[in-house]
Amino acid sequence: MTQLSDLGEFGLIKRISEAITLQNPSSLMGIGDDCAVIAPSLGMRQVVTTDLLLEGIHFDLTYCPLKHLGYKAIAVNLSDIYAMNATPKQVTVSIGVSNKLTLKAIDDLYNGMLLACERYGVDIVGGDTSTSMTGLTISITAIGEALQDKLSFRSGAKPNDIVCVSGDLGAAYMGLQLLEREKRALANQTEDQQQPQFDGYDYILERQLKPEPRADVVEFLNKIEVVPTSMMDISDGLSSEMLHICESSNCGCRIYEEKIPIDHVTRNMAEELSINPTIAALNGGEDYELLFTINQNDYSKFQSTPGPNIFAIGYITDKEKGRRLITQGSNNELDLQAQGWKAFEK
Ligand code: ADP
Ligand code: MG
Repeated sequence: MTQLSDLGEFGLIKRISEAITLQNPSSLMGIGDDCAVIAPSLGMRQVVTTDLLLEGIHFDLTYCPLKHLGYKAIAVNLSDIYAMNATPKQVTVSIGVSNKLTLKAIDDLYNGMLLACERYGVDIVGGDTSTSMTGLTISITAIGEALQDKLSFRSGAKPNDIVCVSGDLGAAYMGLQLLEREKRALANQTEDQQQPQFDGYDYILERQLKPEPRADVVEFLNKIEVVPTSMMDISDGLSSEMLHICESSNCGCRIYEEKIPIDHVTRNMAEELSINPTIAALNGGEDYELLFTINQNDYSKFQSTPGPNIFAIGYITDKEKGRRLITQGSNNELDLQAQGWKAFEK
């Protein structure tokens, strides 16, 4: 069997490039020269984003299969492009590889990345490769495009705008908690003991291991001709992202706990682990749903056209009204916080 060390850097790049077929007309030239060449479409704006993923910080190879890791690494970058209401077209992928990784592992990683690229119509047009002394490192840059007047920033929310999310929250966090629990259980047991207990929890595991960027939501917004007044993707939890929008837009908000969509599997896992599911949704992160605000006049367009489920969870206020969460049942008003929900536990 061929080893990574037999291939060397150039052999590995050759192997990677042979697996890639460019699909976008705007990807004029991919791997093989000092730079890739991209043709921006006339009148379009290009958007660029980069993410750095470090082993031990952002992922754990003991429970994250490399194919999933590759898929997720691409998916989270594309999510940032969609969060601008733009369409991703190209990515570059840079990897730092420790010598403990096998060639099969690298193949799995790229197979996962290529699967995501194929699904979302994106080309890998370049990257960089190095050995690493500190585990696997992955850095991905994504490039997308949008018409200038379609771009959504964090800064455009206005009082009375409706706050929307594109799907249920907290699931990826509960998936991670489950994986961590099983990892601890495996570390403590002898060989002949049982397998991890994942039955019935597929949904939250999938939300953690294989998130999907909401291309369908951006397509739908385009179809019903709605440009969100502000938008971002939920990578750090609803609270933190909502505060970002309020800060950038210089406004306040009222979010209703009872309106926050949470899946029943998320609730079950949260109950089992004695975690408040609302806290998982507010602070958990990695759901990669879109959080956006729309003008009230646009709301009817969501209801009159069939499309992805969109959940209205609150509205934007003047800055002076604060950034508030209205709790279920008791109607208490709490300040939204990026972290720390002690007051809310009671
Ligand atoms: P340079 O010396 O200019 O950095 P490299 O030998 O690193 O060139 O890369 C050669 C070509 O292979 C370039 O087109 C580069 O973008 C591409 N490339 C290198 N590493 C990767 C990778 N991990 N994934 C995709 N493309 C890569
Ligand atoms: Mg290089």
